[in-house]
Amino acid sequence: MEITLDDLPIRDDLRGQSPYGAPQKKVRVALNVNENTHPIPEDVARDIVESVAAAVLEINRYPDREFTALREALAGYLGHGITAEQIWAANGSNEVIQQILQAFGGPGRSILGFPPTYSMHSIIAKGTGTEWVEGRRDEGFQISPETVRAEIERTKTDIVILCGPNNPTGTPLYLETIEAAYDATPGILLVDEAYAEFMPADQPSALTLLEGRPRLLVSRTMSKAFAFAGARVGYLAANPAVIDALRLVRLPYHLSSLTQAAAVAALRHADEMLAMVDDIKLQRDRIVDTLAELGYQPWPTWSNFVLFGGVDDPHDVFEKLLERGIIVRDLAIPGHLRVSAGTEAETTAFLEALRDIKLAS
Ligand code: PMP
Repeated sequence: MEITLDDLPIRDDLRGQSPYGAPQKKVRVALNVNENTHPIPEDVARDIVESVAAAVLEINRYPDREFTALREALAGYLGHGITAEQIWAANGSNEVIQQILQAFGGPGRSILGFPPTYSMHSIIAKGTGTEWVEGRRDEGFQISPETVRAEIERTKTDIVILCGPNNPTGTPLYLETIEAAYDATPGILLVDEAYAEFMPADQPSALTLLEGRPRLLVSRTMSKAFAFAGARVGYLAANPAVIDALRLVRLPYHLSSLTQAAAVAALRHADEMLAMVDDIKLQRDRIVDTLAELGYQPWPTWSNFVLFGGVDDPHDVFEKLLERGIIVRDLAIPGHLRVSAGTEAETTAFLEALRDIKLAS
């Protein structure tokens, strides 16, 4: 007899849960998980390989548990006077968020999030035994300072998580909302800024609010703008005391010496790695304009993807794009699909396929 999950003595609060499940398919044009689809420059790749090769020669030893060089490099990259003592890193910002919930959430504690938002926030909450509480957004997926204050006062959670720009909507998160949330909660406020580098250049990050706000945590990732998703490097900027809290829950040596070497090398070439960001923003804006011309309703976006409504049958359009070698994301938001901005050629392939599908329907 085949054993299923239900036959196992799994934790009661994990029964019936679904794992993160973005499809991983080998297709010509993959625009479904908001990666940076631009390959990294060859000279940078070579430098990364040389750094990793040097690290391999010492692979018999455990890595620097404090990943000092990486924290210094990340602090330098972020600027805003942020120091290495304020930086933490882990295997993707997912792991950073998990460590935050291990330290500040857990059984008997709760976290407020604002759906539709990044699905891993609630999955990590459940995995750490933290109660996931849903807040209400305003029209157009916005969260005003008044709304965030009211929802925090209504739900009184231990942690509040805001995603800006928000995935999957692309919606901006303004500093006024973050300030209002910080003032309204006595708990931890985590701002997930995975897509910060795609914001308009003149828009301030939550990093500018860190000074004097010890309960504010800002997470970032090298997976998106930095084109480093495969390496798994996410990070956090916060008060050094928060970093001390994370040391209590991280596994020793959680960042391998290969990861550390690769990330430090990539950060040495931050300008080159980020050179693609402008093109991605251009392709994103092209998607918004073309979708509107085609009669869809793209939402305004500050990220590297576009959520668009006006899709009569999202599942059908998803499948028809897939038949043409193009994968986008069907998030089960009625009438909507999400597409990541690709290279110019990938973006063109998506837009032309969608035009064909629309004309044929
Ligand atoms: N936060 C948000 C909002 C995301 O969209 C993602 C990835 N899709 C992550 C965090 C996690 O990224 P990573 O673990 O690769 O850093």
